[in-house]
Amino acid sequence: MTLGRRRPRGPVLVTGANGYVASWLVKRLLELGIDVHGTVRDPRDPARTGHLRTIARGRPGTLSLFRADLLDPDGFDRAMAGCPLVFHTASPLIVRDVDDPLRDLIEPATRGTRHVLEAAGRTGAVQRVVLTSSIVAIYGDAADLEQIEAGRFDESHWNTTSHEGHQPYSYSKTLSERLAWKMAEEQNRWDLVVVNPGLVLGPGLSRRTNAEGVLIMRDLGNGAHRVGAAELEFAIVDVRDVAEGHLQAGLVREAEGRYILVSETRSLIEIAGILRDRFGDRFPLPRRTVPPPMSISYAPLRGIPRAVAKRNVGYPLRFENARARTILGVAFRPVEETITSHFQQLLDDGLVSAPRGGRRGGKRPSP
Ligand code: NAP
Repeated sequence: MTLGRRRPRGPVLVTGANGYVASWLVKRLLELGIDVHGTVRDPRDPARTGHLRTIARGRPGTLSLFRADLLDPDGFDRAMAGCPLVFHTASPLIVRDVDDPLRDLIEPATRGTRHVLEAAGRTGAVQRVVLTSSIVAIYGDAADLEQIEAGRFDESHWNTTSHEGHQPYSYSKTLSERLAWKMAEEQNRWDLVVVNPGLVLGPGLSRRTNAEGVLIMRDLGNGAHRVGAAELEFAIVDVRDVAEGHLQAGLVREAEGRYILVSETRSLIEIAGILRDRFGDRFPLPRRTVPPPMSISYAPLRGIPRAVAKRNVGYPLRFENARARTILGVAFRPVEETITSHFQQLLDDGLVSAPRGGRRGGKRPSP
């Protein structure tokens, strides 16, 4: 199939431009000479935007930052003016120890999606919106796979099992994506393309340390699972491939519907094995799995409710990624490269205790 690519005639908007995923997307766009309007909560905060200014330096595209909060109904209009293409990536991402699911996740995610899409409705230039959803809008818990005949989740599936009291982050992403499709269907000026990434790993361009991927890798490296790993599987994708998936979802003329962005699934013990192969025996990585009942009873110590552990520990997780490969042309990196490059960054940043003779120093991917 020959697919056409449409270069945007005008700047493109990236919401949450300073985020882990969005920063790589901004970099790709600027490299291509596409001007970017990025929204952030505080453009003046160097800790949150300094890396973006570094990325922008010397690139053919120009970056302009705008202040916008998901909760502000008119916050996105100024940044969106003149943009034919909008990437809506901003959404709160809290998986462990959620304090107030409605206030911290569901309200900002859904109201933010509504506000961005209403702004698209008011902005004549907008032709396409690419929404960053997640595989957690496709499934709620790994146990849901038992209901899927094909043995793998694909873009036709929806999360029907999460709610405010169970997997609230997944619920926030499901509600937001459903709302986006509803709003897209109610008009015909712009089209909606959705990307559904798995667990995003790989080196970041900023020094953000609280991302779920960072926490998983850090815990592994620092020995949190040294007595044994839970039988848990992760559908992994490299952050650079997620950025590429977004880019192509915006540029490929024929792109439509949802695109699962997952490279491969690996269990916690397999991830430990990949790290041991690359870094040797210097870290207290697990060598065996623990029986599911034991992982389930200890789950709350890691901020995971027992009910969530019960429906995820010991279950396989499989995804179909053919649409992203064939239509968006994403050539997913091997997970080994993703995992080892991410872990190396945590070592460089001192987030994993450097073993004797190990390096520290804060090297980042060249911006
Ligand atoms: P991230 O680094 O935490 O980025 C999230 C972005 O959303 C940040 O720029 C954050 O701004 C912004 N944001 C949060 N609440 C906001 C609010 N009330 N108003 C304005 N902006 C707000 O996480 P990420 O991994 O790049 O996630 C980006 C997108 O990918 C999200 O939609 C997430 O759900 C989705 N996703 C992520 C993964 C993953 O494994 N990381 C997997 C699947 C899907 P501040 O910097 O000001 O907090």
